[in-house]
Amino acid sequence: MGKHPAKRPAVFIDRDGTLIREKNYLSKIRDVRLIAGAVEALKLLRRAGYALIMVTNQSGIGRGYFTEEQLRKVHLHLSALLKKKGAALDAIYYCPHHPDEDCKCRKPGLGMVNAAKKEFNLDLRRSYAVGDHTNDFLLGQNMGGKGIFVLTGHGRRERKKIESSKGELSPDKTFRNLFAAAKWIARQ
Ligand SMILES: [Zn+2]
Repeated sequence: MGKHPAKRPAVFIDRDGTLIREKNYLSKIRDVRLIAGAVEALKLLRRAGYALIMVTNQSGIGRGYFTEEQLRKVHLHLSALLKKKGAALDAIYYCPHHPDEDCKCRKPGLGMVNAAKKEFNLDLRRSYAVGDHTNDFLLGQNMGGKGIFVLTGHGRRERKKIESSKGELSPDKTFRNLFAAAKWIARQ
């Protein structure tokens, strides 16, 4: 029969502080506010041929601050909001675990990335992970792709951590926000 379909590259996008505004342990849909340029970033990356996968650590569930049902409502709301603006994610993956649980899915662990790789036949070496935490660019580097750091959300605080790491933490690229990162990725 036919050839294997070609593997696609993806952009793994962090949620809080990258796609939507940072809000500690967000659990209410009224607190979902898109970061400026985020919709345009998704549209640009889709046109460039990337699968768009949101990956988010949601330890608020493991800590008992909110339920998976509340999280599902937040994500349904986010998807509806994006759709209204003509954008969309291909999938949303989340890690519900407490950091102490030592799970395989909490970023920068590869559990969510590997699940998406299987579901969407992804080429991780041509893929990117983008976010405002060291965990996000480490995820991109751990998967064999590139890790992009953005300065929205906790980015400015995290940048101090990077600077004091003496080169141990080193994003492949740093941009002021997701849209700036998307413009660069789309040119690669
Ligand atoms: Zn997990």
